[in-house]
Parts: sequence; structure tokens; C-alpha cells
Amino acid sequence: MKEIKEYIRDIPDFPKEGIVFKDISPLLNHSDTFNRVIEMWKERYANHGIDTVVGVEARGFVFAAAVAYAIGAGCVMIRKPRELPYKTFSKTYDLEYGTDTLEVHQDAIDPGNKVLVIDDVLATGGTMEAVLELLMDNFKCELVEVTFLMELSFLGGRDKMKNLPVYSLVSY
Ligand code: IMP
Repeated sequence: MKEIKEYIRDIPDFPKEGIVFKDISPLLNHSDTFNRVIEMWKERYANHGIDTVVGVEARGFVFAAAVAYAIGAGCVMIRKPRELPYKTFSKTYDLEYGTDTLEVHQDAIDPGNKVLVIDDVLATGGTMEAVLELLMDNFKCELVEVTFLMELSFLGGRDKMKNLPVYSLVSY
């Protein structure tokens, strides 16, 4: 069987010049690899009593929904502003140039819920740091682990993960 990394392709100069974007589309497009990564997460998380899998817009949703279904948990979306229809909590965080904001529905997570957070890529860690602050500031939940399909470890994003356990399926 081919390695997971063989289904992740480099796209030079996307979304801007000088950036090499890791594109996971081939991995999602093939049933064997997509199934395999969901099974890997299922094996790790099936017996931890996880109530909620939180996914980060947009590719995080694809994995969060599949893992939530596989382990019998609910699924929560963290979205860009003005996408969620009900009352939201929000978190604004710094980017290289400017700021960005993430939102979650105020009733998304019940007190005491055990939560797994998923995104596709851990790069600088700025996005997930904001996600974790959004969750910790607003919900009395237990964050079990933060997991990524892929970690760009040379960017040091792990240091921003609030001392939570971090698990990545593949690392560069
Ligand atoms: P960070 O905030 O720098 O850690 O970037 C992580 C966020 O940007 C994640 O939500 C990813 O979806 C996205 N991202 C950053 N780099 C890549 C990449 O090379 N491929 C796909 N997504 C990326």
C-alpha cells in the first residue's frame, strides 16, 4: 500500500508566491487512503468516551465529520465570521498581515463534554491556538487531544498548543 504522504502533493506558489501548499485533495479523492486515515483516528479515539469532535473550517470539517461518525460522537464546526446562523462566541487572532476571526455556536458544546479537535494541517499553530482559546474561554469542556492529518514540524506550531497532547498522522 502506498504511503499517506504519496497522496499529499506540493503546489508551489499557492496561495501566493513563495509558499509551497500541501494539497490533500488526492488523499480525499481515493477511497483507500481516505478510509485509512479515518480508521487510524478511529483506532486511537474510539474508546475514550469522546462526546464531540470539533472541526476547523474548511478541510477540518471533512475529517471531523467522518471521525465523529466513526467513533459515535457529535460534530461541531468552527467557522469564519458570519457563516453561523445562531448566537456565536468569537475569537480574533493575529495573522502575518492583519487579523482573522473564528466563531462557534454558543450552545455547541455541553458542560463536561470530552472534546477532540481536528484540523488538516498544523503549520505555525496560529489557527489552532485561536481555536483552543475560543473553546477554553467559553466552554467548560475537557479537551482530550488536538489532532492533525499533517504537521509541518519545522514551523514549530506545537509550542502553541496550550500544553495539550498533540497527535499528527504524518509529519514533515
Ligand atoms: P497555521 O495557523 O499557520 O498553523 O495554519 C493552519 C491552517 O492553515 C489550517 O487551517 C490549514 O488548513 C491551513 N494551512 C496552512 N498551510 C497549509 C498547507 O500547506 N496546506 C493546506 N492547508 C494549510
